[in-house]
Amino acid sequence: MKVHGFVFEKAGPPTVMKWRILDLPDPGPNEALVRHTAVGLNYIDTYHRSGLYPLEFPSGLGLEAAGVVEAVGKNVTHVRKGDRVAYGSGPLGAYAEARVMPAHVLIKLPKGIEDDQAAAMMLKGMTVEYLFNRTYKVKPDEWVLFQAAAGGVGLIAGQWLAAIGAHGIGTAGGPKKVKLAKEHGYEHVIDYKKTQNIADRVRKLTKGEGVPVVFDAVGKDTWTQSLNSLKARGLMVSFGNASGPIDAFSLGELASRGSLYVTRPSLVTYTSTRDELEKSARALFKMVTSGAIKIEINQTYPLKEAPQAHRDLEGRKTTGSTIFIP
Ligand code: NDP
Repeated sequence: MKVHGFVFEKAGPPTVMKWRILDLPDPGPNEALVRHTAVGLNYIDTYHRSGLYPLEFPSGLGLEAAGVVEAVGKNVTHVRKGDRVAYGSGPLGAYAEARVMPAHVLIKLPKGIEDDQAAAMMLKGMTVEYLFNRTYKVKPDEWVLFQAAAGGVGLIAGQWLAAIGAHGIGTAGGPKKVKLAKEHGYEHVIDYKKTQNIADRVRKLTKGEGVPVVFDAVGKDTWTQSLNSLKARGLMVSFGNASGPIDAFSLGELASRGSLYVTRPSLVTYTSTRDELEKSARALFKMVTSGAIKIEINQTYPLKEAPQAHRDLEGRKTTGSTIFIP
């Protein structure tokens, strides 16, 4: 079966992504053929494309999509032809009209979750689930600092914090993004284009104490301010690098700020078993179907225009989630 999709043979700017005809085999044992109805854009796609996260070439791109199962191979019992499914933990190759893929990452979509929503939230929403439930169990009334609050993960995170009853402090670039983040659960949002010293603001908001946990996927530009915002024995959760990777640092920096902890988690390790994956997806579906979290799809592109979407995401022009329609 022939379909269109993106492949690339070297890392680089968005122009390395090539729209090609892909020849799909029949699904083998433990595999499924999925026709995509919507594909998710994630910041990690730009790290794969740019070479920040090295890959073997040629490679597909994209880790998140929703669609319909068209065929399954031997041993596949949890999904069948005709099922609506989604995935958010790879493997690479979601930027395609259809694909043959390992069936164990597929989650059946319940009523009440649309395909577009699923493509916009599986990776980002399961990330918020593991960050707030399992990397650090956020409790009601706790103060939390979340960097890049108006992005795809950020808007889900703000609403999730509000649902827990925690006090979310977000950061975002510019007044429009600040307003949007405030509308999505954050109690306070700091415009880091205007305010250089985020940590000072955080200390003021927390009566001098600092926050017990920071979630920071901006990376290089916010690292020091994030550490300075923590209270003694607080946890720095560094889960991405939109502004660039973090330079080497001395462990002494953790001691001098009050015996801090640091972790660098990734979704793959928190959904490595089928049980963990299903529980994470179920928790996310519950948040969305209950109305606690609304998934904001603020940009939609034809799949073929994915290179432009990469430019817009890296140019900080997007807010909330972005999807592609094949
Ligand atoms: P976003 O929609 O949040 O886009 C990234 C945002 O980062 C931008 O909109 C921008 O918001 C902010 N930003 C700050 N500095 C820069 C910069 N120099 N260049 C570009 N953007 C910058 O992306 P996602 O929701 O897809 O992902 C958010 C982050 O979470 C990413 O770093 C991603 O890698 C990470 N992530 C990590 C996972 C994990 O398990 N470890 C899983 C999922 C995501 P503003 O203009 O407001 O600053």
